[in-house]
Amino acid sequence: MQDQSDLDKKYFIDETVYNCPFCNRRNVIYELLDALDFDWTSAKKCFVYFVECGSCENVSMHLSFENIKTPDRMRFRNDIDIDPKIFYSAPTSFFVMDDRIPRIIRELITESEGCLKMNFLTGASACMRKAIYELLIIEKAEGTDYESKIKFLKEKHPDSDPTFFDILAHIQEMTSDKIHEQSWDKWDSGYLKLIIETLKNVLHDIYVQKEVKADRVKFIQQLREGLLKDKRGKKKT
Ligand SMILES: [Zn+2]
Repeated sequence: MQDQSDLDKKYFIDETVYNCPFCNRRNVIYELLDALDFDWTSAKKCFVYFVECGSCENVSMHLSFENIKTPDRMRFRNDIDIDPKIFYSAPTSFFVMDDRIPRIIRELITESEGCLKMNFLTGASACMRKAIYELLIIEKAEGTDYESKIKFLKEKHPDSDPTFFDILAHIQEMTSDKIHEQSWDKWDSGYLKLIIETLKNVLHDIYVQKEVKADRVKFIQQLREGLLKDKRGKKKT
């Protein structure tokens, strides 16, 4: 079977199934309860959707600048990828990042992605800078400047792809020593996407992959120990 773990990273999988942010159940049936719209500006409409989890019955709210409901019934359209159409959700979609990743970093990345969807590039850039700084603090990165701190991380986590750290190390502006947030330039959306995806990969390697690997080693050790016990038991009889 094809690897479908990517579906766990989404909010909405299709027009009937989603990953619930309340009960954390994956692949659970949901119902579109209500759809409204209002004028975001005099030229732009915003669409509001209320979604109820089929399992825990909690209701979440989602905003889009596009009408993504089918005209004939209370359902999202089935010919679209729903997530990219939604620019804000409450609860946010930060739950879709693995909860072994520090919460503060997950929140900042989610906020950055929300800003990016609305084309608020200054906000998106500021959140990503903060997310990277938080990672450096949490990982107790040593070094006199930004670049050497990233290099420290690269050496600390040799199992993670070094290319990711090289990209982070050379992010425009991060390498200069600007102290005030106001003196920073915003990144364009293409560059922001690269930074977000790179950081997500690094986080996955550091906080998720490492644990999965440790669990596997533990599992194999348990199997081995069980086998050795069996052997000893047989010798006695
Ligand atoms: Zn639920």
